Amino acid sequence: MSDQRASREAVARLARARALGERFLYRTDEVGEETVGSTSTAPDETGFDAAGWEALQQEVLGCTKCELHKTRTQGVFGSGTPHTGFMIVGEAPGYYEDQQGEAFVGKAGQLLTKILAAIGFGRDEVFITNILKSRPPKNADPTLQQVAACEPYLERQIEIINPAVILALGRHAARTLLGVDGSMASLRGRVFEYRGVPLVATYHPAALLRNPKFKRPTWEDVQLAKKVYDEELQKRAAQ
Ligand code: SF4
Repeated sequence: MSDQRASREAVARLARARALGERFLYRTDEVGEETVGSTSTAPDETGFDAAGWEALQQEVLGCTKCELHKTRTQGVFGSGTPHTGFMIVGEAPGYYEDQQGEAFVGKAGQLLTKILAAIGFGRDEVFITNILKSRPPKNADPTLQQVAACEPYLERQIEIINPAVILALGRHAARTLLGVDGSMASLRGRVFEYRGVPLVATYHPAALLRNPKFKRPTWEDVQLAKKVYDEELQKRAAQ
């Protein structure tokens, strides 16, 4: 895509989002106006708590609340922008995430980028994070104690972002967030709620890489999440 076309599309997205009442801000280099990641110390005119976000990030990166801080390379706060209505939550950082300090990198992350592009989002237009912010050794399943220690960070992220929808990736993430047992087959294709936010669950991109038969249901689920997102923005605009 040419720079000019990318810029035109970014401007169009911004106009569409504003018309819908969304709290999006884009980088200066994309649209020639406004900024992302304001360093102001008070909620800005959009209501975004930049100081709270920055403080939360520092807290996570220095956190020692559970034993995972001893084995991680670094904490992984999340990737993308908090100025979004579309939030993605996985289970925990893996090897590459732990090394790079970014959420969803490596092959699974590349596939997630493609999935997002298919519904019209760039990675820098959503916020991607995990329930646990530090990698469990050997990618072990999170323990109840680890989740209990770390989940308040996710709750605060959700509180500040105020997303229109959450897309939960993978059975463990979905089961933890929803507090229910069940296979992904039984949890996908429906709209739940987490802390008052609509939540759609689907397969983890790593599962898609292992088993292509999950591609179709995943495509249906991300389309459902996008539909919920669009509807939620419409509702907010009408308020
Ligand atoms: S997993 Fe969460 S609670 Fe545990 S050390 Fe990392 S940031 Fe802290």
